[in-house]
Amino acid sequence: MSSVDAVVVGAGFSGLYLLHRLRSAGLTTRVFERGGDVGGTWYWNRYPGARCDVESMQYSYSFDEKLQQDWHWPEKFSAQPDILAYANHVADRFDLRKDIDFDTEVTSAHYDANRSKWIAKTSKGEQVSARFFIMATGCISTAQIPEFDGLHDYSGETYHTGNWPHEEIDFSGQRLAVIGTGSSGIQSIPVLAEEAKHLTVFQRTPNYSIPSQNEFMTEEYERSWKDIYSRRRAEMRLSAHGSLKDLNDVSAFSVSENERCETYAKRWAIGGTGYLGSFNDLLTNSEANYTAAEFVRHKIREVVKNPITAELLSPRSYPIGTKRICIDTGYFETFNRDNVELVDINASPIQRFVSDGLVVGERKYQFDSIVFATGFDAMTGSLFNVDIKGRDGFSLKKKWYAGPRTYLGLMTASFPNFFMITGPGSPSVKSNMIVSIEQHVDFVTESILHMQKHDMKLMEPDLGAENDWVKHVQDVANKTLFPRANSWYMGANIPGKPRLFMPYIGGVGTYRKICEEIVADNYRGFVFDKVLAVTAAE
Ligand code: NAP
Repeated sequence: MSSVDAVVVGAGFSGLYLLHRLRSAGLTTRVFERGGDVGGTWYWNRYPGARCDVESMQYSYSFDEKLQQDWHWPEKFSAQPDILAYANHVADRFDLRKDIDFDTEVTSAHYDANRSKWIAKTSKGEQVSARFFIMATGCISTAQIPEFDGLHDYSGETYHTGNWPHEEIDFSGQRLAVIGTGSSGIQSIPVLAEEAKHLTVFQRTPNYSIPSQNEFMTEEYERSWKDIYSRRRAEMRLSAHGSLKDLNDVSAFSVSENERCETYAKRWAIGGTGYLGSFNDLLTNSEANYTAAEFVRHKIREVVKNPITAELLSPRSYPIGTKRICIDTGYFETFNRDNVELVDINASPIQRFVSDGLVVGERKYQFDSIVFATGFDAMTGSLFNVDIKGRDGFSLKKKWYAGPRTYLGLMTASFPNFFMITGPGSPSVKSNMIVSIEQHVDFVTESILHMQKHDMKLMEPDLGAENDWVKHVQDVANKTLFPRANSWYMGANIPGKPRLFMPYIGGVGTYRKICEEIVADNYRGFVFDKVLAVTAAE
């Protein structure tokens, strides 16, 4: 069995930076990645139209000044190939590949209390022992295809947006279906509609979507960031979402109806997620929220020519922003095309799949290919894919049977030296992921250095501190409208998954300050060697 200081799972943006930091801190580190190359979510989600909805000047690493100055983004909101190229560049620039095993899954990781080490087993039969075991597997990486009746009878081609093939797929001349209208569906549908002979979109719940108003990067815009990059990055770290969005810090009802509509119209014209920053009470006051939602529905009616289709595309069953808001390029316009049909599977769900298509109500639909844009087992799925067992063989799945339990989304009691990057209970998916990734990687690295400095071997949260944090995460969410939606944030998209709000929405800056205070207070809520030794002996 080989032995290293740290085993890391995943070579996406978390794993890459983690490897760089741990290695620089002098720790021998091995990274295992199930994909054939670096990039994580941007390696797998290569469906047509895939693009990031956070601006690239912000959705990028800040840890290396020269890197952020050297790299040029071609567009304001980058497409998947450009983000993947960036991940590859980072891997090469910092010589990271030599410590990454590709096409290799970590299947289990068990804590061995006698040796105070983790033993990780891989899909290639290797066993590696390590003092630190770190899951850097991302929050949205376990693709889900619902268990539709007769799915295996279907003999055409099937694809999932989150597991897209690497070779070019030619849909021209095909009868194509897309099932699902979340961010992935909304991004891919306009592109697929141009390619396929006919596209049928199966929609269960309509989504709020704002145009991205994407554009090519201008030198002037790039300079406006790069000239003061470190200052801007510092502001991002203390912001609510880890990105600089202009929040209009007044209530929607502090202005006249005309002024309110003008604000929405302006934000709509600018595009992107900044729409939700139109007023400060959109996510806490349902009447305020209604006004923002109604404006989007008005826009849909304006764009979509067929009023029945427009109504079907208009979300009404949950407040705007409580499911992840979508950002699109020509989504609603796509439903004006002659070769596109929208099918409502809320009123009448998909009954079953058959060899050449599927059946909804009385009607059978025939397809050459079907694209599942049906989402992910988010936040916990990728953690549960590895059989993780802590002290006394306690499994993570068992501990979290009623929902994830973490301290700060970083660690969980009974699992010493096991860290999660952007785990449940941290801002994670409610933030600019790269900002949160950098903060967690820095926290983990500095905690390890702290342990080394004080000659300590083990670290884990105190159960009381963990329980308080779990409650705090729910309390914060319950002050907002978020729990009102059947979202993947709540685990609602996976049958049988416990319903609770998984990310922390107290704000990126607030969360960072809490972490800093905890560290300054001698890692309040964490316990180290001595206490653990006593607990183990009891
Ligand atoms: P998603 O938001 O979970 O959407 C899944 C879609 O599939 C929903 O429309 C859902 O309907 C539908 N669906 C699921 N199960 C179904 C069933 N049994 N029958 C019928 N319909 C079903 O997944 P996603 O679009 O892949 O996006 C996931 C997240 O990834 C996003 O929220 C975002 O955070 C991230 N993402 C980001 C970007 C970006 O940066 N631009 C792009 C893509 C994804 P219901 O709503 O009724 O459940």
